[in-house]
Amino acid sequence: MRVGILGGGITGLTAAFYLLKAGAQVTVIEGRQQPGGLSTSFDFGPFRWDRFYHCILTSDKSLLTLLEDLGLSEEIHWTETKVGFFAEDRLYSMSSTRDFLKFPPLSLWQKFRLGLGILYASRIRNARRLESMPVAEWLIRVFGEDNYRKMWGPLLKAKLGACREEASAAFIWATIFRLFSTRDRKAGNKERLGYVQGGYQRVLSVLTERIVEMGGKILTGIPVEKVCALPDGDVECAIAAQKIRFDRVISTIPSGPFSSIVAGLPEEYGENLRRVKYLGVVCLALVLRRRLSPYYVTNLTDESLPFTGIIEMTNLISLGETRGYHLVYLPKYTAPNDPLFASSDEQIWNLFRAGLLKVFPDLKDSEIENRFVFRERWVQPLPVLHYSYLAPSMETGVKGVLLANTTQIINSTLNNNEMVRIGRQAADRALVREKRAEQDFPLSAKALQPVTEAAQISPISVAGS
Ligand SMILES: Cc1cc2nc3c(=O)[nH]c(=O)nc-3n(C[C@H](O)[C@H](O)[C@H](O)COP(=O)(O)OP(=O)(O)OC[C@H]3O[C@@H](n4cnc5c(N)ncnc54)[C@H](O)[C@@H]3O)c2cc1C
Repeated sequence: MRVGILGGGITGLTAAFYLLKAGAQVTVIEGRQQPGGLSTSFDFGPFRWDRFYHCILTSDKSLLTLLEDLGLSEEIHWTETKVGFFAEDRLYSMSSTRDFLKFPPLSLWQKFRLGLGILYASRIRNARRLESMPVAEWLIRVFGEDNYRKMWGPLLKAKLGACREEASAAFIWATIFRLFSTRDRKAGNKERLGYVQGGYQRVLSVLTERIVEMGGKILTGIPVEKVCALPDGDVECAIAAQKIRFDRVISTIPSGPFSSIVAGLPEEYGENLRRVKYLGVVCLALVLRRRLSPYYVTNLTDESLPFTGIIEMTNLISLGETRGYHLVYLPKYTAPNDPLFASSDEQIWNLFRAGLLKVFPDLKDSEIENRFVFRERWVQPLPVLHYSYLAPSMETGVKGVLLANTTQIINSTLNNNEMVRIGRQAADRALVREKRAEQDFPLSAKALQPVTEAAQISPISVAGS
């Protein structure tokens, strides 16, 4: 079977890897010069590291399996990381139960409610019913008015900005659940996060090497311009001056560009793709000559700060990875039409610098070795009410064309574990369709179900193939 994969991010490359293991012929077509998408690396000057920050959780089963399949398990390094909180103009540690009990901005009663609420949220296994509740309403109900006003409200504003009004409770539950899943209860409830030595650059280079070794092709710097199903059952992709034919195509590109390049999408499916709202990210990365804090993530409850959080990467990764420099990311998640995307690097720096100095007033310009601004408009879906009914199915209704992208993350946060799972599921599905010989077109009601249910009707696993 000839499979074309649109997009060479982690989802596309994972699908390619498992399809090749199952014996398919695979061509990955990536629009940018370098594969990797949101996980790609960047030359920061003294060192190369991920363009956006990444950590691995002990509970990231699909990702850890991929790393094992690539022979990278031994290269994962685990670190006990610390969490900070900037509240009421001060930086506090929130890294252990003890820190939590000492946390001054909340009273004993508020802490008790907060702890109880987190425990309750971490025990919820099925978030479907949370999808029907607006996030603020749920947070007030579970944690109380005071905790909402002092903590959750500002955190939510930092994370989602104006979009928070539309989000469901499942969004915050997914964040709590994911972070709780990497805490080591035996060691005082401490957080343990991991990374592969060399970062995603190492993961992507081994992944692309294995794809090529197994006979796969990776074409870069060529955006796909048109996809259409031909009457003879092939799918044709138009790239530059060429047209390439496949038996199946898996598209891993964001839904907006996908709907504009694929011909013949059923109206209902196309309409659904347009209804999913994306969040983008503007991220300032700083290469520093000094450490800012001991925390990997610093949460912010100061609503005047222009960024969502502070991620001090070198509190997770060894300084050997960055030649002794300290790497800090300041992300701002926001709607793709936010004017921030059109601001110059200098304007963004001036805005973010003022915010950073509020948290670290002693930071001097001479301690900043370099700074970079990264912008991506189509990063993750906004988890609105009843999102799982909105999430597109993998079956697109165009014969032979499957969709596998971040909009299919349901009741979880944006992370590579989810994308590896979805990429592998798409590979399974392409193989299932091969075996089923085209029986379920036009689109059946079953095929239009969200991807979580879709998984149950594609039971073939390529793992052992
Ligand atoms: C700020 C930030 C922090 C993150 N932190 C973490 C973390 O701590 N842990 C974690 O696990 N994950 C994290 N992630 C998430 C992770 O980076 C993403 O889940 C993942 O990279 C998405 O992969 P993807 O392949 O689905 O999409 P993408 O990486 O977006 O890949 C899609 C690819 O399609 C290509 N493309 C688009 N249009 C075309 C076209 N017409 N033709 C050909 N190619 C095209 C794009 O160039 C891109 O390479 C983070 C992401 C961000 C932005």
